[in-house]
Amino acid sequence: MSASPLRLRFAPSPTGYLHVGGARTALFNWLLARKTGGKFLLRIEDTDKARSTDESTRAIFEGLTWLGLDWDEEVVFQGANLDRHRADAERLLATGKAYRCFCTAEELQTRRAAAEAAGGAFVYDRRCDALPKDEIARRVEAGHAFVVRFRVPAGDTSWDDLVHERITFPNKDIDDFVILRSDGTPIYNHAVVSDDIAMGITLVMRGDDHISNTPKQILLYEALGAALPRFGHLPMIHGTDGKKLSKRHGATAVGDYQHLGILPQAMVNFLALLGWSPGGEFEEVMTMERLVAAFSTDGLLRKASVFDPKKLEWMNGQHLARLPIAEVAARVTPLVVAAGYTTEADLEARREWWHTLLELLRVRVRLLDEIVPMAETYFREAVTYDPDAVAKQWKDPAALGPLLAATRETLAALPTWEAAPMEAQLRALAEQKGVGTGKLFQPLRVALTGQATSPGLFDVMLVLGRERSLARVRAAEQVLAGMVAAG
Ligand code: GLU
Repeated sequence: MSASPLRLRFAPSPTGYLHVGGARTALFNWLLARKTGGKFLLRIEDTDKARSTDESTRAIFEGLTWLGLDWDEEVVFQGANLDRHRADAERLLATGKAYRCFCTAEELQTRRAAAEAAGGAFVYDRRCDALPKDEIARRVEAGHAFVVRFRVPAGDTSWDDLVHERITFPNKDIDDFVILRSDGTPIYNHAVVSDDIAMGITLVMRGDDHISNTPKQILLYEALGAALPRFGHLPMIHGTDGKKLSKRHGATAVGDYQHLGILPQAMVNFLALLGWSPGGEFEEVMTMERLVAAFSTDGLLRKASVFDPKKLEWMNGQHLARLPIAEVAARVTPLVVAAGYTTEADLEARREWWHTLLELLRVRVRLLDEIVPMAETYFREAVTYDPDAVAKQWKDPAALGPLLAATRETLAALPTWEAAPMEAQLRALAEQKGVGTGKLFQPLRVALTGQATSPGLFDVMLVLGRERSLARVRAAEQVLAGMVAAG
């Protein structure tokens, strides 16, 4: 790679949301720029006015910002560069590298149909390239519509791809492609090359789906007399069924994951491992700093990668467990407030308690949102009993009632409300009553939380506090008495 700092870019078309494939391309360019002290530039390819929307441009900015992929220099809007695109096409006309084509769309369509009917592929036959100069001048003068076609030279076009190594296309397979439409607007390949040259891009890293564009772009660089960048084509992303990732596989927009409770650092970590590996044995859970340090184009993989939502969830759980608790609180507070459990002011006033509860819950979930229903019981006065938990743990109400009453008395007699004495006394009680601790602890858990699973029993009692814990056990005794009475 050249010694001068790399100039990389992400060049999305704002015709939809920011797709995970696009985000992965952006991430790899960003990582390489940050790793090497280069620049990461953003270009919005909005020349297709019919399909480009401001909303989509906003979604791209938001998605990149959420992921923490900041760009250097001003955003380039391709549509603002039409004059240069035209000037570059004019230059190719002036130097004889391109020619005007007056064939109409209908004529071309007829010839295409004929070629296909004869079993061949249509290639433009260069008839307009053969027009005499004065005839061309006459038609231009008379206002005939024309497109500008690039005259593809003989030979082969090759490059050393960063991912695929050497790739060669015989030029005879490349049609004299249009670079400027009859309305003077550029075709994709021409606009991209004109902009990449103007932006001084030194490495073009993008999806595999662009491989067939690259020989055309290389020919344009050469014709324009510009230095070639390097190219790297990233493998496609497939769903778990091995097919190209699409909406059929579920959410494919970065914004969707943001709203599903995925943390940006988990998304980044997950995307980084789609088509790249640090090599050897490595720890999959990585911070952004670690990714920057480990990233290298040597680790780019050739084969398609698989987008497994389960793995993303797992990754999220890993990052969630490592997040500073104040950050977990900042993310979950609005959710529990929206769920109507409490107010922000209440949580602010009981900050330490809230953080303790979050410490207990965050290790039990993979997605932030899953904390919300788990947190509910700690905010409510009364317990809502899960019928399955009751059926499983309160099978013998007649025996359990007195056992819970004894439990409550034991807890009430504790001089302090701390986990160690709680545990010691309840274990002693179980032994004295001749029951296994599980036979005491599991029904007690249902009494305290209404659920068959929860954080550690003693942690739960600490978070609930003495009064509420004792009140809940008493309430459970009443429910059990009711069950006995009902037979
Ligand atoms: N605008 C193109 C796209 O969204 C990418 C252009 C490029 O990276 O060269 O697929």
